[in-house]
Parts: sequence; structure tokens; C-alpha cells
Amino acid sequence: MLGLDVDELTAGTTPVTRLTIVSPRGERVSRAFSRPAFVVPRRVLDHRLVLAAQAAGAVLRRRRVRSVTQTSTGVVVDDDIVARVVVGADGAESVVRRQCGAGGVPEGTVALAVRGYAPTDLAAEQHLTLAAAHWPAYAWVFPIGDGTANVGYGEVVRREPVTRAKLTERLHRLLPGLDPVPLRGHRLPLSPGRPDPGHGRVLLAGDAASLINPLTGEGIYYAVLSGSLAGAAALTADPARAYRAALRRRLGRHLRHTDVLARLTRRSWPLDLAVRAARDDRRAFDRLVEIGLGAGTLDARLLFAFSRAVSPR
Ligand SMILES: Cc1cc2nc3c(=O)[nH]c(=O)nc-3n(C[C@H](O)[C@H](O)[C@H](O)COP(=O)(O)OP(=O)(O)OC[C@H]3O[C@@H](n4cnc5c(N)ncnc54)[C@H](O)[C@@H]3O)c2cc1C
Repeated sequence: MLGLDVDELTAGTTPVTRLTIVSPRGERVSRAFSRPAFVVPRRVLDHRLVLAAQAAGAVLRRRRVRSVTQTSTGVVVDDDIVARVVVGADGAESVVRRQCGAGGVPEGTVALAVRGYAPTDLAAEQHLTLAAAHWPAYAWVFPIGDGTANVGYGEVVRREPVTRAKLTERLHRLLPGLDPVPLRGHRLPLSPGRPDPGHGRVLLAGDAASLINPLTGEGIYYAVLSGSLAGAAALTADPARAYRAALRRRLGRHLRHTDVLARLTRRSWPLDLAVRAARDDRRAFDRLVEIGLGAGTLDARLLFAFSRAVSPR
């Protein structure tokens, strides 16, 4: 995965082979993935990543970081740890982001989501239901292969405040009959609000760098990728510069395209077209999956499929 050489990350997980998407106006596409996807619960994924890092020589120490200060020679954490470089991978409420001067998360670039686990008959098929109300919003069912599924609902925060009660009610409305537990909620800082990821000897990765796909809310791929790029950049003479360049190389074009798509999909009707295009054109479906889950970009084929979806024969 991502060239990390940690093959056991998905071990024992049944691959998800199919994706069904229902658009805000009820257009539907159901197709097999070109490559399998995996739904691995976070406690399992995180544990495996930690074991792999330790096997490679990393030392795990747990503490809640409260302050991060740069000096002329390094970075001081909580007044008692001195590091040459710090990678802030401390999530959506990042202390490191605030303290290194990267600023907060800009308005209009945050989503809120809730998710839990529920029994399901689905074995290897993911479902996304895009919501017409409270757009941009969608509900999902991602089976994990043991008879249960990761089930949730999220929406981009606009003017109206979004509460946990509202998210829960909207989840139940879109997915009647499913009662996921325990229902946990969190903020998602979306990538159009990303800050400069490198500040001297402090680098930001994952959610701390607002690396969440604005179209799908997916952030694990970016978090693992940016974390590994930050780790490699930390070994260079100019970590911030090396990190910025590496991120630009791996994700720059993709992030520019998802920024544009996020603006174009502030209204829900382009999603109806996208789902229609994916239904009628296998390669358009594959492209959209890569844009939503990986580092895919817009291309002529996808634009052609959109144009055909505007005027279906
Ligand atoms: C409901 C919901 C469902 C989602 N579903 C998916 C999905 O299906 N697929 C997907 O790709 N993405 C999903 N995402 C997004 C994904 O969870 C995040 O993008 C991803 O977790 C980012 O990883 P991270 O390591 O940057 O941050 P986190 O996973 O948030 O990890 C941050 C870590 O830093 C620690 N930390 C925080 N503050 C401090 C501090 N001061 N000191 C020390 N440690 C600290 C935290 O305890 C935590 O361990 C979902 C998000 C939500 C809210």
C-alpha cells in the first residue's frame, strides 16, 4: 500500500468488490471496482501501522502534546522534548497546526459526520446514498466482511449549524432500518482549506493539514501518504521545502482538480450527471472512483462522458 511495504495492513479483510451510488435525484450506478477496496476498522489499521513502525525501529511514547515551539536548532515539545523535526499528525483539532502558525480551518471547508457499526446482509458491496437535502451530504454503508458494516452520514457545514441530533436523524432517514452503534461524530477539515504544510521544522500531515477529499470525505489515503512523505522529508536539510515539493508531486494536480470539482458540485445536479456518466461508461466510473478514493484526476474521457450524460441519447 502506497509503497510503505506493510502488506499485512489489509490481512484477513474481505475485499469490497462493488460500489453502488444513488444520486440526489435517484440516478443509480452499480459496478465492480477495477481494483479491490478494503474496509479496515481504525483500531485494527492503527495497531498494524504502529507494529510496522516499531518493527522498523520507531519508539512509541504516548502523551497529550500541549505546546510546540521552534528554536534556531530544532523544535521543543512541551518544554521537555527536543526534536530536529516534528510531524504534526494530530488530526482535525491539531494543536501543532495552531501553534506553528498555519492558522485555523477556514469557514466553508469543514464537514461533520457520524458513524457506527450495524449488522448487514451486504458482504462485498459498498453503498453511497447522496442526499438531495442538506447538500453536499451523503450516507454510506461499508461492509467489513464479518456481517457488520461501517454505517454513517456526513455533510458540509454551511450557514445552518449542524448538531449531532440532526446528523443522526438524517442518517436514519436516508438509511431506514439500520441502527449503527456506537455512533461517534467528528469534524472533517476538507482539502480546499489546506494550509501551508511546511513551517520550518514543523510539518503537518493528514487531517492536521486539511487533507480530506471534499467530494467523498475520505482522508485515510492522504493521511498515510502525507505521513510517509513528511517522514522522508524530515531527513533532508530543508524539511519544509522537501515536504511541500513531495506533496505537490504526488497530490498537487489531484488536489487542484478536486478543488474545482468541489466548487462545481456546490449544487447537487452535477452529481446526477456524474452518476449517469459512471453508469453509462465503465472508464468514467473508474476515473471517478480514483478521484474520490485515491489521487485520480479529470481527463478528456471523463469530460466526454459528462457531456454525453448532459444530453443522453
Ligand atoms: C465519521 C467519519 C467517518 C470517516 N470515514 C472515513 C472512511 O471511510 N475512509 C476514509 O478514508 N476516511 C474517513 N474519514 C476521515 C478519516 O477518519 C481521517 O481523514 C483520518 O482519520 C485522518 O487521519 P489522521 O491520522 O490525520 O488523524 P486522526 O485519525 O484524527 O489521528 C490523530 C491522532 O492524533 C492524536 N492527537 C490529537 N491531538 C493530540 C495531542 N495534542 N497530543 C497527542 N496526540 C494527539 C489523536 O488522539 C489521534 O490518535 C472519516 C471521518 C469521520 C469523522
